[in-house]
Amino acid sequence: MPYLIAEIISIGDELTSGQRLDTNSQWISQQLGAIGVRVLFHTTVADDLAANISVFQHAITRADLVITTGGLGPTADDLTRESLASALGVDLYQDNAELDHIKELFAKRGREMPPKNASQAQFPVGSIPVHNPEGTAPGIDHKVAKDSGSKRIFCLPGVPAELKQMWSQAVEPAILEMNPNGKSMIKHFVIKTFGMGESDMERALPDIIRRDRKPTVGITASYATITLRITTEGDTTEECELQAADTIKTIENCLGNIIYAHHECEIQEIVAQQLSDSDCRLAVLESGTRGLVSHNLHSVADIGNSIDHCELRSSLCDGYTPDKLEQLAKDFHNSHDAHFSMVVGDVMESTKEAGPLIHVAIVSERETQIEEFRFTGHSDIRIAKAAKQAINCLRLFMLSPSG
Ligand code: AMP
Ligand code: MG
Repeated sequence: MPYLIAEIISIGDELTSGQRLDTNSQWISQQLGAIGVRVLFHTTVADDLAANISVFQHAITRADLVITTGGLGPTADDLTRESLASALGVDLYQDNAELDHIKELFAKRGREMPPKNASQAQFPVGSIPVHNPEGTAPGIDHKVAKDSGSKRIFCLPGVPAELKQMWSQAVEPAILEMNPNGKSMIKHFVIKTFGMGESDMERALPDIIRRDRKPTVGITASYATITLRITTEGDTTEECELQAADTIKTIENCLGNIIYAHHECEIQEIVAQQLSDSDCRLAVLESGTRGLVSHNLHSVADIGNSIDHCELRSSLCDGYTPDKLEQLAKDFHNSHDAHFSMVVGDVMESTKEAGPLIHVAIVSERETQIEEFRFTGHSDIRIAKAAKQAINCLRLFMLSPSG
């Protein structure tokens, strides 16, 4: 069976007017992705009957699975029930069990159900309710025979907590029963890399990033860390591992020590592990990275024993130039009792083409290594990137024979 294609529709004036961010689509997409359903469309539509009918009609023609959120309240701007019925050319019926449940919720709050809320127990003919234990807006589960195949529409309330509860209790099990990919499990394998840009990586892995490849390899970049995510489908963990093995090997051969981990983690966690495995301690002196190297290292639990000293200066010294870095770093190393020292210099203006530069020195008893980096990128990320670059220098230094 081919993949199920899904469309998510978010309904509400508060979304189209920009007053509220549509977090439901994000969450539902993540849930669908994890069970192997491909989401091809996110649609956001205002509380407008004609627009809703048109969106429903369009979605049914291009997706197998349509999930909507919002518009199931009792007020005049809640149009999901009506617009779905219109789009399918059916009437509404009343579900008495759901009506009783709504009345009960009001009774528990010591109130009588306002007549308007009875509309929430109305459903398009041919659909069944999705029970909402905590709220007065039941959802809708509608199977529709269309063209060659059948389509399934789930309408859920907009309130995130209610929608999530209904999702795990009713919607996800129903989708899994549809067996979206003909396999019983989806397994992701993660490769974390640092030190190569996104486009260079695409060039280094030309066949790997192809969209029609199996297993698929996704690539995402965040603060100069690039994550490769290999998605496999199988009936057992072993089958998934076997499917991913060749791809992982190819990536390892192409990228070498650009890869820092085979699981979700930050680069400082790996460096902390290297320090602790080799029973070594580190001293840090930084200026251009404004304390972020120390901050990142200290964000790792239990790193305390591996850190000898961390120091932030607004400038490494009066009249700092990168030529002075080597001696400064050696002096710093000699005045501390650490196996490795990392010294990050001031940010230096250089030529207009190269932009600002930053230098990182790593010192051990045997060797001093200096690296130069461009201090570029959006101002939000350049310090974060420089701090990661500095930490990555230490990682590579410890991996090298001299480290
Ligand atoms: P509704 O079901 O349309 O009455 O929506 C109820 C409430 O849920 C709204 O007032 C919003 O606060 C919230 N909500 C609706 N849609 C979304 C969405 N797509 N993402 C996040 N919150 C939402
Ligand atoms: Mg609404």
